Amino acid sequence: MEKIQMKNPIVELDGDEMTRVIWKWIKDELILPYVDLKVEYYDLGLPARDETDDRITVDAANAIKQYGVGVKCATITPNEKRMEEYKLKKMWKSPNATIRAILDGTVFRTPILIESIKPVVRTWKKPITIARHAYGDVYKGTEFRIPGKGKAELLFTAEDGSEMRDTIYDFESPGVLQGIYNKDSSISSFAHSCFRYALNSKQNLWFSAKDTISKKYDGTFRVIFEKIYEDNYRRNFEDEGITYFYTLIDDAVARVMRSEGGFIWACKNYDGDVMSDMISTAFGSLAMMTSVLVSPDGNYEFEAAHGTVTRHYYRYLNGEETSTNPTAMIFAWTGALAKRGEMDNIPELQEFAKKLEKATLDTLEEGICTKDLADLYEGVTSHPVSTKNFLREIQRQLM
Ligand code: NAP
Ligand code: MG
Repeated sequence: MEKIQMKNPIVELDGDEMTRVIWKWIKDELILPYVDLKVEYYDLGLPARDETDDRITVDAANAIKQYGVGVKCATITPNEKRMEEYKLKKMWKSPNATIRAILDGTVFRTPILIESIKPVVRTWKKPITIARHAYGDVYKGTEFRIPGKGKAELLFTAEDGSEMRDTIYDFESPGVLQGIYNKDSSISSFAHSCFRYALNSKQNLWFSAKDTISKKYDGTFRVIFEKIYEDNYRRNFEDEGITYFYTLIDDAVARVMRSEGGFIWACKNYDGDVMSDMISTAFGSLAMMTSVLVSPDGNYEFEAAHGTVTRHYYRYLNGEETSTNPTAMIFAWTGALAKRGEMDNIPELQEFAKKLEKATLDTLEEGICTKDLADLYEGVTSHPVSTKNFLREIQRQLM
């Protein structure tokens, strides 16, 4: 069989531990036999990041900007324990944070569904995609613990020295205080990413916030979304038969629970953090979830939402066979291959990505799965196997 040829490369960001091991298996068994794979390879494994003073992470992010499509393996975010374990020069920052800061994007996370594993919420028939704004708010907040009596004020000093000032609270006893911010430019790029993603995937877009209480802060989010929709997207949405609507976050939660799914739910940073864990757990597992970072200028980085699965890795190092779920990693690759095929107009590459996804889902539908899913099946007897055997089953389906 002739291998599918590519034009431009995919930027490949290798990672750590169990996911690094499985990453290579996926390429060797499921991609390289069928695709003449063109990649710009960056080793984001912790030893290489340490060796290059983390320059490699920045280079990889810039390469995604250059080529438009990247695929990333899970990576260790160093802490004290890792400093010791890897004898690091420095506690390097989270690669995801570094990459997000360079690409400036929105993270879209969608559960991967199969027939025989039912969501906890009975009405859900189709996946719900969370679009999480990944900038500012409480993640960049400034906080005080207030020791006792005193006045807290909000003060803004403009470039020309003029001031805006308001009393937050006259403390009569100890308490807490927090200052948070966001920027119109970041909110706008968040909005553009969401509208484009909705058009691309032909799904309705919901956006929720709390502008009845937070009239200026959340109100600004609502107004920016509305204006960008009216000025740039309404016509395209109507042509595609999809809708955009804004509602209060509490109303959105109630509607989500009664919905069939099949839409995109855009959330502010904190709401998205909380809601994406709820959605993924209710649909099954973190290893059954796609994740893609979309930047406002149209660059895509595909990844799995889970970490490097350290516990399984130590077992693997002891010579044990593990049953780690590779589904989200396979879908990171298929997402990148399909996007590359779309951008470079290579329909065979898009077709192949679809076939590989179908082969993975068909394998799971037969009950052949990894251990994490074994107890979730309904109506089908599950046969948990090792990761290697799971990949072989997928390859059998592919042929
Ligand atoms: P984790 O790697 O996601 O694993 C936590 C637990 O979840 C595992 O021990 C395993 O449970 C289960 N699990 C996760 N993915 C699985 C899969 N594909 N198949 C089967 N089970 C899976 O999170 P962590 O242990 O907190 O973090 C490990 C390392 O990953 C850390 O160094 C962290 O910095 C890094 N991390 C990276 C990313 C990223 O690059 N995107 C994200 C999160 C964490 P059982 O052991 O019970 O089987
Ligand atoms: Mg979280």
